[in-house]
Amino acid sequence: MKKWICGMVALAFLCLSGCSVHTQKTVFAMDTVMDLQVWGKDSEAAQQKLAVLIEETENTWSAMDRNSIVGRLNAGGAVVSQDAHDFLQRAEELSKRTKGAFDPRLGGYIRAWGFYDGAYRVPEEAALQQAPVQWDLGGAVKGYTGQQAVQLLETLRVDRAILNLGGNIQTYGEKKDHSPWVIGIQNPDGGNYLGTVSVVGTMAVVTSGDYQRFFEKDGTRYHHILDPETGRPAQSGLRSVTVICADGLTADVFSTALFVMGLEKASDFWRQSEDFEAVFVTDTGKIYATQGAALSGCEYEVIAR
Ligand code: AMP
Ligand code: MG
Repeated sequence: MKKWICGMVALAFLCLSGCSVHTQKTVFAMDTVMDLQVWGKDSEAAQQKLAVLIEETENTWSAMDRNSIVGRLNAGGAVVSQDAHDFLQRAEELSKRTKGAFDPRLGGYIRAWGFYDGAYRVPEEAALQQAPVQWDLGGAVKGYTGQQAVQLLETLRVDRAILNLGGNIQTYGEKKDHSPWVIGIQNPDGGNYLGTVSVVGTMAVVTSGDYQRFFEKDGTRYHHILDPETGRPAQSGLRSVTVICADGLTADVFSTALFVMGLEKASDFWRQSEDFEAVFVTDTGKIYATQGAALSGCEYEVIAR
């Protein structure tokens, strides 16, 4: 009995000093539900810090808040912090790589469609022509948050984590048994996942889809990913694009941009790039995956180099 008690005490002590604790938390931010799962000695503290990071990032980059950096920039103000400057610069560089398919200055259009206040409307062509050029980082900020989260986790005693930032998945570290993280690709029509992608280690898996935010008017669906050339919802023949990339911000920018480009241009863009893989779902329900994307559980066509 005594031995048994000693054993229990030793185990409890070991756990207190070194056990990998798993904690899970759901937060609502950036207009979406976020799920934070963390394993490690500091998992509880890490989660609290992650929740603060998410809230701060939302407040800093909200296009709807006059006091955010975006709000101030749109009112003619200047960027104040080095971090903010770096984010904007990287977003601009990535935008250039996409030849403007990702455009961080579409805020005027987004407002014209009512995506900020939920007062949805189909704007007249004249209203789109006159829409002011305004910053909107909505297509990049969740990926940026994932990236910031990775930097934070690196400073803590965390073994691994998987963060679902409203459809933007950020993994951190390796699973205990070294098996890959398995991430579902949403069916744009709802219901079960279409298939899964597997990734190993710290990766971002980011999806842009026409089902994520939209409204319907007179039988037509208007979604939130706009073609910068027309100011209207991109009609590229795609329902969703998932980008798999080591860098969260790049994944987020490219998922939006590839959606705008459509399958053919996006495939060429991938052939000219080395830093990401992608999965496409078309509006006829076909699935395509670049040759390095570890997709399974569904039939699909491989896009080769
Ligand atoms: P995502 O879900 O990452 O594709 O981002 C969509 C959000 O990005 C929208 O809600 C807008 O705030 C913004 N957005 C829409 N179209 C574009 C575009 N072509 N380039 C950059 N941002 C966009
Ligand atoms: Mg995006």
